[in-house]
Amino acid sequence: MSCSQDDFSLDSVNEPNNTERTTLRSSTVSGQFQEVILGDEIDNPFDVENLTNAAANICSTFPIPPTDKLIRFTISSYQEYVDIHLDPTLTVFSYPLNREIIQMGDYYNHMSGGTLTVDAAGGTGYAGEGGASPSPPYLYSLVSADKVISGSYQYSVLEEYNYDITNVSIIAESFIQTSNTVLLNEYLRTMDPGTMTTGCGDPVVPPTVTGGPTGGPSGGPTGGPTGSGPSGSPTGGPTGTGGPEGPPIPDGKKDCLSPCYLVLTLDESTAPATFNWECFCPPPPPPPPVINDCGCPEFSNPRSVAGCVNVENNSTSGIDPVQDVRVTVIDSWTTHWLTGIPRPKRVFTTTTDDNGCWRIDENFGGNVWVSVEFVNPDSYERLNVLDVDPGMWPSFNSPVQMIHEFLKPVTAFSGRFEEAEFKDINTFYPNWGTDVGTDLQRNWAAATINNQVKEFLAATPDITSPPAYLNILMQPPRGDGAALMSDLIYDGDPLLRAASPDLVLGIGLNRRTNFRLGLLTFHELTHACHYMQVGENWWKVLIEQEIANSNTPVPITFPTGVTGTNLFSFQDNPHGIGDEPNAGFVAVAESIANHLEGEIGGRSAAFMERIQFEDNLYIPDGLYWDLNDAMVDATVPDNISGFTRAQMFNSLVPNVTSIPTYRDQLQPDLPPGNNLADYNTLLNFYTR
Ligand SMILES: [Zn+2]
Repeated sequence: MSCSQDDFSLDSVNEPNNTERTTLRSSTVSGQFQEVILGDEIDNPFDVENLTNAAANICSTFPIPPTDKLIRFTISSYQEYVDIHLDPTLTVFSYPLNREIIQMGDYYNHMSGGTLTVDAAGGTGYAGEGGASPSPPYLYSLVSADKVISGSYQYSVLEEYNYDITNVSIIAESFIQTSNTVLLNEYLRTMDPGTMTTGCGDPVVPPTVTGGPTGGPSGGPTGGPTGSGPSGSPTGGPTGTGGPEGPPIPDGKKDCLSPCYLVLTLDESTAPATFNWECFCPPPPPPPPVINDCGCPEFSNPRSVAGCVNVENNSTSGIDPVQDVRVTVIDSWTTHWLTGIPRPKRVFTTTTDDNGCWRIDENFGGNVWVSVEFVNPDSYERLNVLDVDPGMWPSFNSPVQMIHEFLKPVTAFSGRFEEAEFKDINTFYPNWGTDVGTDLQRNWAAATINNQVKEFLAATPDITSPPAYLNILMQPPRGDGAALMSDLIYDGDPLLRAASPDLVLGIGLNRRTNFRLGLLTFHELTHACHYMQVGENWWKVLIEQEIANSNTPVPITFPTGVTGTNLFSFQDNPHGIGDEPNAGFVAVAESIANHLEGEIGGRSAAFMERIQFEDNLYIPDGLYWDLNDAMVDATVPDNISGFTRAQMFNSLVPNVTSIPTYRDQLQPDLPPGNNLADYNTLLNFYTR
């Protein structure tokens, strides 16, 4: 389970220093974790209520069905808080999306405006904005209106929106009524003029939207109708009549097609406001490249966004694509970032491909915020925020405030990007150097571990897979690891249960190269595979033996200055010396993990051949190499060769609890050409 800081002390592999960054732009260099700061609630012109009022003002009451809804989850347990973050159909936020984002950041402080409470059972929770004690804080999501929320999640709908509305008369009125007039033309630019409708007779939403009004389709061939009749005559649409009509688009202006766009000029000094349409044609942009700077394909639509996520590999002096991580884009469609005007927001989520590329084919405008979340069905990466240098969390004054950051996958804010950057949103994680506890360390390690899990799985199709959604906890100041396999040891406390990871990985100074971190990742992943083969009861014996061997709890200093114990690290000598009651479990589990760590981590054959026992004690790290190899060995009685990795790993069944029981389990697989006496001699050599 646990691994000393320097498994394989013979390590003499040359580790290159940090490489120069290439021309890729980095958008994540700050060092400190940044807090999300919210402003006032936004009066969203696309709120169904606002649209309905706008329609009533200029025409009559239309039925306006929602296309999107903002929901708020009331979380009933810490485990549910974790589960909801992992749900691939949901993109959740710690803060309400109907409020101004004054500063985007890495975390949101739930204690803003709240007070900490302790319930009768001793659990902790938040009152105030964060929800009632003892529940974890609310989570928020913006989802399509017909989204069916799975499971037993409790939620309420805070607001409903219609983002498909095509009637610009109603849109304009709603912008006016919600004091967003200055943003109107920015929004209109994101619309296709061919789909715009005006007046009171047109359908409010395109006929493709479920639950829309029953008006006949008015969207003819692109370019709109060329007849001379009144624009947008009703064809069985809503019957609202009376009241001043919005401005019709003059027939001549209907030819205003992309890249030109219609601009609506408003004169609010008159009542009602008067309108004028202009067709504005920007100078033609240079043709977009088919491949962006990331080497990723682009959409031809200049308003769609595309980018890539990459991480420095300081062991190959290269740059690796970060594979299969979630990318979330919040769209604000306005350039008025600095004016303090609240901006309606929409949210889009995708995942990176094998090349680290991602694309979202929607019409964006103004600024977008981009975040990367390290989660996919293979693994997710968390940060032990209780073990981070206090100086890195300037706004936290209590470890309890950090608990929710600690439970969920790491989300790294990439930055805010303007229209000129939409095609080429590069997120790059350079190696973090030596500043323990920074967001640079967190992001580099999370991206690297995410990829190393993929690498391990690709390299080991022949052995049992680790659990899906492997829960990996990163510890910034440490170099050791552990395979706790979730809540096996902290069964009693709900918070500790939810916090318990499958794997703990130190990402500290002696794990700051891809090579060194990879050894640890592959070691603990091997344990996870072994766990899947032997089951919980077997694993519990192993963990309890290793904890018993660890006489010295790892101390921790919370940001408040209070000291405590790191519940996920074990020091002293977790592997023991071999005379402990269940040392056989340790011998079996650690030897296979040490072996595969070297094999998948790229150790040379000469290095592997030198290995015998861990720290010259009793764990037979060299056994599996010698069962397989045909090399002539000077010091080991190795006349055996040809066992496959699948045979050796598959023999690690529940009744194998020592090297002698492993010998008996594996023996029937003795490959042809070997003899039994040699086999027993080799296995006896490795039994101590
Ligand atoms: Zn181990």
